[in-house]
Amino acid sequence: MQIRGGWLENARQIISPFSDARPVATEISLLVVHNISLPPRQFGGPHIFELFTGQLDPQAHPYFADIYQLEVSAHGLIRRDGEFVQFVNFGQRAWHAGKSVFQGRSRCNDYSIGIELEGADDVPYTEEQYKQLILLSKCLQGSFPAITMGRIVGHEDIAPGRKTDPGVAFDWAKFRTGLTEASL
Ligand SMILES: [Zn+2]
Repeated sequence: MQIRGGWLENARQIISPFSDARPVATEISLLVVHNISLPPRQFGGPHIFELFTGQLDPQAHPYFADIYQLEVSAHGLIRRDGEFVQFVNFGQRAWHAGKSVFQGRSRCNDYSIGIELEGADDVPYTEEQYKQLILLSKCLQGSFPAITMGRIVGHEDIAPGRKTDPGVAFDWAKFRTGLTEASL
């Protein structure tokens, strides 16, 4: 697994318009883990792609009417089967964290990479997702060495009270152990 020019090689790309340049001379130094499923708790459909590209049909599901105008994205999504899909170049700023703060520094989008796991807070993630997230994180740490182990967090950690993902179902110990032991 390798990142070249800000894109993961051999990964599927679906380009999101909801991204822009990071502030000049910003070091990428944080990895934020999220979850998403559309409709909530349903897996496998095209609706995450549609949301991140501004093409979600508000009439396709009652929930969508509330969110279809959101301009949001993440750098990538790991689907239930472990497939990684990239939406935004890692060098660009994806719009995933919203109002957020890490160790006193706000605007986490400026200096972070956001990865979504297709899932819900209380639904166990798949083995394929852990495996892919571990490999991807290792790869990102190789490209962006400021993303140290202590600088990989959940959305809930940088937007407490507002966000709950990736939730209680995400096994941080399993992830961290896997990442510590991983080799590329
Ligand atoms: Zn999130």
